[in-house]
Amino acid sequence: MTNSFQSPEIKPDSIVARLQTTADAFVSITQELELNAVFQLIADTARLVANCKYAALGIVDEQGVITSFITSGISQQQRELIGDLPRGHGLLGILIKEGRPLRVQDINKDPRRSGFPPNHPPMTSLLGMPVSIQGKVVGDLYLTDKIGETDFNDEDEWWLDLFARQAAIAIVNAKAYEKTRQAQHQAQALAEVIGSLNEFTQPLPLFRQISMATRQLLNLPSAAVFLLDERAGRFVLQTGFGLQNNSPDESFLPVEGSIAGRVLNLNETIGVEDVSKLSEIFVPTLTSGQLPRSALVVPIRQYGRINGVIEAYSEVARQFTPEEKALLEAFAIKASLALEKAQLYQQKEEFLSMTAHDLRAPLTAIKMSAGLLSANLPENFPPLLLQLIDNITRNSERLNNLLEDLLDLNRLENGNIQLNIATVDIGELIASVVSTLNPLFKEKSQTLTFVPSRGNIDMHADRRRMEQILTNLLVNGNKYTQPGGKVEVSLEEHEGQVIIKIGDNGPGIPHDEQAMIFDRYYRRPVHEQGSKISGTGLGLPITRNLVELHGGKIWVESQPGHGTTFFIRLPLNPPNF
Ligand code: ADP
Repeated sequence: MTNSFQSPEIKPDSIVARLQTTADAFVSITQELELNAVFQLIADTARLVANCKYAALGIVDEQGVITSFITSGISQQQRELIGDLPRGHGLLGILIKEGRPLRVQDINKDPRRSGFPPNHPPMTSLLGMPVSIQGKVVGDLYLTDKIGETDFNDEDEWWLDLFARQAAIAIVNAKAYEKTRQAQHQAQALAEVIGSLNEFTQPLPLFRQISMATRQLLNLPSAAVFLLDERAGRFVLQTGFGLQNNSPDESFLPVEGSIAGRVLNLNETIGVEDVSKLSEIFVPTLTSGQLPRSALVVPIRQYGRINGVIEAYSEVARQFTPEEKALLEAFAIKASLALEKAQLYQQKEEFLSMTAHDLRAPLTAIKMSAGLLSANLPENFPPLLLQLIDNITRNSERLNNLLEDLLDLNRLENGNIQLNIATVDIGELIASVVSTLNPLFKEKSQTLTFVPSRGNIDMHADRRRMEQILTNLLVNGNKYTQPGGKVEVSLEEHEGQVIIKIGDNGPGIPHDEQAMIFDRYYRRPVHEQGSKISGTGLGLPITRNLVELHGGKIWVESQPGHGTTFFIRLPLNPPNF
């Protein structure tokens, strides 16, 4: 398609040429989405079109404070030498305050100037223009040193006024875009970290996750969680990231004399821009040895009352935006719920563990009495009573196993089990477990086979615990596979790791349940065999914990209707031993 419109001849230095270049530049500027790139394009375009040596764009906040200062015509190195953002005291301040164009022939001779900082390039002529939209100043454009002229003229001013109005629209749009993007980003980050909280059943790792997530959400170097000890009148540090190794004294924040205490008394979130200006001086020391400069502290509420705080710290002074406060508050609500859940879980486990302990002694007495009874039976003892004694013995044995499993799993989950690592011939160990369990399989007319590896494999492991792992899996194979079925164990070594497979041709496990069978108390609701198979749902979680304690991994592959295979991969040398 040909364009019938013929552009008129445009003189390169005419106002028409300037307007055309400006219009073209704004096509690119409005396509740019990144805020700083938009600022830079505006400053560069202003300098090129106005034909001056330097240009700058100052972005101001609602209070007229310069928040960004973008320059054009000054190298990055020069910029760094100049240092801080201009404070806007001299001519820039007048431009910001008065909100009118400002034209100065020689900055150095103007009595209103505040002087250039050291390392600033010399500048003479100035044309400044507020960048405003709907009566609100969002920034200022500064052009200095018009090339080939001593001063800026009326035409420059007219053009810059026009340019600034378009720049204002571009800035407002880019800011709005940036805000939406940030909000989206934060919502996504929040959703992710909230999701991660639900996995925790123990308060301590949960606290770690809360402080890590807080740092991540606010992009800050350090964060901590404190819980309130009402009677002692202080907050107790649960976990902190980016904090110095706290001496016990520093692990507390007194209610009287800390930001946390203020949060408690005012019942609201507090953001402090400059901690050193507060009379409350109790804040933990950061890894750098410095005290935090700014802090954002949100309450953790449980059952309607504040019982702790999440604190986020910054080493440099900064304000916390309402969005950041809202974000951390939303996170704190979810964190409190996750904490309630973890605490309840912990209480339940503690109760179970205590009960299991308390049941052990009477159970041992029952077992011993039943044993003594059956060893000292009179002749012609009625068979019915014999069967009852046998019942007592078997059931107390079952109860004993259940209690031992419960206590074992608790100890494993709390990190209270030490492995007794020694050199183990793993092939020999598997063979011995297989031979011990063979009678169980014979009873169900099942075959249990072991396919050993080609050579001997010596590994470092806890012999008793390895036997426990294998026994759990083999007993499951025996329990869940139909009479006449097959269970096979195989052993291989591959690149410093052993792989043990325990496969059966039993009923299999549906895909959506395969991950759950390793959860505490999980038992499949329906067993294909129809008969009720006894169990506790503790075997696999214990097994998984033991494998992981050895630095290994366990997983399952199963085809419903065809069988199940458990895989165990273990390093020949477990880490940390
Ligand atoms: P328990 O056997 O005491 O129920 P486990 O934790 O050992 O507890 O196993 C959890 C569940 O996993 C079992 O209830 C069973 O549904 C399923 N499961 C384990 N091993 C097998 C297997 N070899 N074949 C089919 N299902 C199995």
